[in-house]
Amino acid sequence: MGLKALGTALPPAFKDRMREQLGDEYGAFIESYGQSSLRALRLNPLKMEKKELIDLFSQNKGLAPFFHLENIPWEETGFYYGSEDEPGRSPYHDAGVYYIQEPSAMLPVNLLMSGSSQGEEGLRILDLCAAPGGKSTQIAARMNGKGLLICNEVIPARCRILSENIERMAVRNAIVLNEEPDRLSERFEEYFDRILVDAPCSGEGMFRKNEAAVSEWSEEIVKLCAERQQEILKAADRMLKYGGTLVYSTCTFSKAENEETTEIFLKEHPEYRLKEQIRLMPHRIKGEGHFAAKLIKGEGDPSELSLRGKKGRASLSPEDVRDFFQFADENLVSVEDSVGITKKDPMGKALIRFGDNLYLAPGECPELTGLKVLRPGLQLGTSRKGHFIPSHALALSLKPGDFRRSVMLPVYTEGSGEGDLRIKEYLKGMTFPFEGENGWYLICADGFSAGFGKLSGNVMKNHYPKGLRRQ
Ligand code: SAM
Repeated sequence: MGLKALGTALPPAFKDRMREQLGDEYGAFIESYGQSSLRALRLNPLKMEKKELIDLFSQNKGLAPFFHLENIPWEETGFYYGSEDEPGRSPYHDAGVYYIQEPSAMLPVNLLMSGSSQGEEGLRILDLCAAPGGKSTQIAARMNGKGLLICNEVIPARCRILSENIERMAVRNAIVLNEEPDRLSERFEEYFDRILVDAPCSGEGMFRKNEAAVSEWSEEIVKLCAERQQEILKAADRMLKYGGTLVYSTCTFSKAENEETTEIFLKEHPEYRLKEQIRLMPHRIKGEGHFAAKLIKGEGDPSELSLRGKKGRASLSPEDVRDFFQFADENLVSVEDSVGITKKDPMGKALIRFGDNLYLAPGECPELTGLKVLRPGLQLGTSRKGHFIPSHALALSLKPGDFRRSVMLPVYTEGSGEGDLRIKEYLKGMTFPFEGENGWYLICADGFSAGFGKLSGNVMKNHYPKGLRRQ
């Protein structure tokens, strides 16, 4: 369906309600359906220092011929990209240099994180409805590896995608869970400093991008979503500390799922106050539209909220971690600087073993027994018959200088734009010839880690995960 036609094919009940809701602005709103949707990406400061990264992509700088970016006013690392750009096809995407995200969807995390200095030590943050991970990875970028981020998604298949995106975006301090909000709230009573509820909604803000959203819409769905949102918010409330921040957001326009949802919640939870409520509408901004409300629970001083009562974890034996430390000695420049583990006190930072897999848990890891855990932290790798096979997640979370041996494969070269074909072949799972000392190598797309390779007899064996390989 053409975009003009979409404006007329919108459900009549939706149009009537929007006419009433928007008054004089209704004409401009309907006209916005005649414009194509804008595309955007968010740069990932976990891969390179933020200023340097923004600089690299800015106008007249190194990557300017290949990316045509324009700032998004409400997110410092967010940029609209040009219609000629194809960032999803670039190896930079696989290396987690950016996340492709609808521009207005970048708003709620700004509300959630405002009022905290970047990377504040020790915050516990929950993203309750997290898949596919746009907002989780944005929160993680702001946390900068500090504190604890729990990303939860109720639908298992979506949860797996969430976990992959957490990994791709080099996030180290996140646990990925696959739970119902109610069940989670039984375990994490008044536990979090900040919670994001990016609720399932009737998706009216998706009409321009996704025609199926139009045919799936009905007044009944709006009503059902509004009821479900109240239930999810109740569970979120049980998990939020006094003084904590709750951000509620949707990508829909109905008052019933936005202002009225927060009104009902505030009536039933008088200990909350509404700090800020923002609506981005497609006829006023460059984006599909979003709603976000920031609610503060009680009068506590948010600056006093931090990790308290660190729980000790059952220690692993030296055998459990021996293979990893051998690998680390041979390959990491410094296990302390690269991964944050003190070798003299390896258990001081929580190392967790599931079968043969070794994980590095966030600074403080809650008790997870009995919960459906997809990812208890950063997967370091797997022990096999006395050998340690490093994980793809570890590769993505390392900077080139962290690893003793790395191969820099150019992606963008001035003039041609073609770069080194080996990076494309590597992402397809192919080997390539290489001369050097045998052993593990960090394969980098320009200066960004993209995976591991293992050199043996001048052939770089490919360790890019099979499930992620490009066709
Ligand atoms: N925050 C995500 C992001 O930025 O990428 C988008 C989240 S999407 C708007 C809402 C999510 O809520 C979906 O992944 C959906 O599967 C999940 N969901 C559906 N029903 C739910 C429920 N009853 N409780 C919690 N989450 C639910």
